[in-house]
Amino acid sequence: YRVKRAGGGHSPFEPQQDGRSSSQVERLSALHRAIERDELRLYYQPKVNAQSRVVVAHEALLRWVRPSGMVSPLDFIPLAESSGLIVPIGRWVLREAVDVLRTGRLQEVCVNVSALELRQADYVDHLRSLLEESRVAPRQLWLELTESSLLEPRFISVLQELKALGVRTAMDDFGNGYSSLMALVSLPIQMVKIDRSFIAGVGEETPDEVRALEVVRGIVALATAYGLPTVAEGVETLEQANLLTKVGCTDLQGYFFGRPEPLP
Ligand code: C2E
Ligand code: MG
Ligand code: MG
Ligand code: MG
Repeated sequence: YRVKRAGGGHSPFEPQQDGRSSSQVERLSALHRAIERDELRLYYQPKVNAQSRVVVAHEALLRWVRPSGMVSPLDFIPLAESSGLIVPIGRWVLREAVDVLRTGRLQEVCVNVSALELRQADYVDHLRSLLEESRVAPRQLWLELTESSLLEPRFISVLQELKALGVRTAMDDFGNGYSSLMALVSLPIQMVKIDRSFIAGVGEETPDEVRALEVVRGIVALATAYGLPTVAEGVETLEQANLLTKVGCTDLQGYFFGRPEPLP
């Protein structure tokens, strides 16, 4: 039995009382309305330098704030990607993040980018003019891309253009998926984010503990050998933070240091 929420009506992003889930069409029109009603927000999560524990950047994470509660990006980004809506949403995200930099509210911001956005022929030109108009230094912005998009061969030239522009790129969720160690060391990227699934096993009193830490140690060693800094995502305890620092992670990010929050 579900209590009816204030505001009435069911959310197309939750199962209905009879257990059916809403149709794609309902979900898509709800997402369209979210954009029109200005219900998307960016929350920011800090990233710290492992050695000094000083905040060095913030990751922008999309939130859909509805009157009935918050919808996780995991619940609407796949739909935004399959429908193409991620392109206008991604432009909004970039504009917001660059504005936060322009107004000096943050010094360095990391933005998540979907493959479909990168496939837009004018992606880099659009980003370049956005930065120029706002007089924001390209080095203040990082783009986080997942392995699946980085492995498309045609993206290599986009990565090179971004590098030439001075916007840095990170491989997000490394190790979760069809990771290629070759790709890691051969792509023109500037940072590797080690997937939370490895970090979760670090510092646990289980036989897997050693392996999780050893896997991270291996990734860090390889990345470091190629001059690539690393960031561990999903750091939740002091013990994890200290072990990850010891194996040489450059930066740390996770609930232990701060949750994603709206800017004041
Ligand atoms: P991601 O880029 O790998 O972001 C990290 C996710 O882990 C975020 O989930 C963050 O809230 C969560 N997280 C951070 N620290 C911890 C921790 O210590 N423990 C745990 N359990 N979780 C932690 P979130 O915000 O739900 O975002 C999920 C995914 O949605 C992101 O994964 C990213 O792939 C995607 N996403 C978010 N915002 C955007 C966006 O603006 N554009 C695009 N294209 N994708 C986005
Ligand atoms: Mg990310
Ligand atoms: Mg990630
Ligand atoms: Mg992840």
